[in-house]
Amino acid sequence: MTGLARAIGDALAGAYPEARCELDFTSPFELLVATVLSAQSTDRRVNAVTGTLFRRYPGPEALAGAEPADVEEIIRPVGFFRTKTAAVIELSRRIVDDFDARVPDSLADLVTLPGVGRKTANVVLGNAFGVPGVTPDTHLIRLANRFGWVASTKPGDVEKAVEALFPADEWVMLCHRVIWHGRRCCHARRPACGACPVRELCPSNDIGEQDPAIAAGLIREPRA
Ligand code: SF4
Repeated sequence: MTGLARAIGDALAGAYPEARCELDFTSPFELLVATVLSAQSTDRRVNAVTGTLFRRYPGPEALAGAEPADVEEIIRPVGFFRTKTAAVIELSRRIVDDFDARVPDSLADLVTLPGVGRKTANVVLGNAFGVPGVTPDTHLIRLANRFGWVASTKPGDVEKAVEALFPADEWVMLCHRVIWHGRRCCHARRPACGACPVRELCPSNDIGEQDPAIAAGLIREPRA
């Protein structure tokens, strides 16, 4: 299994050399807030509001003292804006009060912050601090099952399976590539198997559209 998994990982690396975190950020704090805002939304919607948000509130001290109504107005397009406003303001207060206004760089500390689970913590660790971590989002969970890497939809099981199959220094980029592939080609409802760059290696290559031309038409950039 390790050999096939690594071959799929290599094929994805060849197919998506530009894969990266699709949230815009310039600091660990911005990535943390953007990741919290991205729950049940899209990275594009989040990117459309974070420029304004971070110009107005450039760090945890500023956001901790924000008027909720002002933040709600800015982040409204991402959805669940009242809950998310409360979360990012409280998150900022805790960073100021407990961590000297600096986002902590350990999993143990990050998950003590309100609204921050292992997935969000690993996104921040991997992309802002260079600490290896697996981020079992909906795409990784779906594709890891289709690739035969795991037979479970529990995030913890997927995380452990991927960690066992790949070296730690590949985890972050592997997750980006799998997520890109899930967004663009291996969709939840109608995977584009006939136009898939890992078709020859994938044990689930019979579940989606087989006609190459029709499958090519299913490939898309993530929705706005
Ligand atoms: S062959 Fe089909 S199921 Fe397998 S990765 Fe490609 S699109 Fe997904």
